Amino acid sequence: MAMAGGGKKKLPRTIAIDGPSASGKSSVGHLVAERLGYLFLDTGATYRALTWLALQRSVHLEDEQGLAGLAARVDMKLGPPAAGSCERCTIWVDGEDRTSVLRQPEVEAGVSLVSRVPQVRRAMVAVQRRLASRRKVVMAGRDIGTVVLPNADLKVYLDASPEERARRRQEEMAALGRPFTESDVRQRILRRDAIDSEREDSPLRAAEDAIVINTDGLNQEQVVEKVLTLAEGRS
Ligand code: C5P
Repeated sequence: MAMAGGGKKKLPRTIAIDGPSASGKSSVGHLVAERLGYLFLDTGATYRALTWLALQRSVHLEDEQGLAGLAARVDMKLGPPAAGSCERCTIWVDGEDRTSVLRQPEVEAGVSLVSRVPQVRRAMVAVQRRLASRRKVVMAGRDIGTVVLPNADLKVYLDASPEERARRRQEEMAALGRPFTESDVRQRILRRDAIDSEREDSPLRAAEDAIVINTDGLNQEQVVEKVLTLAEGRS
């Protein structure tokens, strides 16, 4: 965009995208990052991977000390997806690529319990911030604008009705060969939303300076375009 001084508007270096489950954060964030040439980081993957590790090691998902111990010791790395992967990120746990476990139903069912634990959050946030300090990033999650990157240059909060989110997630699951009914998907989404919004540490909410986009009735490309318009300072 042309500025008064004739210069070009500087693109934001860090873009935070928050929102509830299945609000389209990952797919939109990934496309925005691709168009801008930025790294996309889906922070949900870190909590999912830790949940998988807890299940592997038989740590009870309500055992806060056990979860805190795991989080303190694990070596977690997050990076771009492998060529041909339908995931938006690759996650390495103690040096092994564990991306394929992220969508396991038992991981999805337990992750909101694990992400409630403050020591778990502290460890995951440290991993996330380290990555964002190195490159221009689009980072998606629940607390990016409020906690992880409170100084992000652009903060977006994507919202949509539970019905719309359930419909989109059900379509995604069906495409992956996992047929769930829409009402089943809706119940799971609402359960996670409730735990994520009611927890004491870093609950899901829009940052005060976030721009809220209600995506009901918009397709993915329209949402991507809205975020790019904000990033590029177009009106
Ligand atoms: O975004 P995704 O559905 O993969 O996130 C899985 C879960 O991880 C969320 O339901 C939430 O409990 C947790 N999470 C979080 N903070 C983030 C990202 C995800 O607590 N920044």
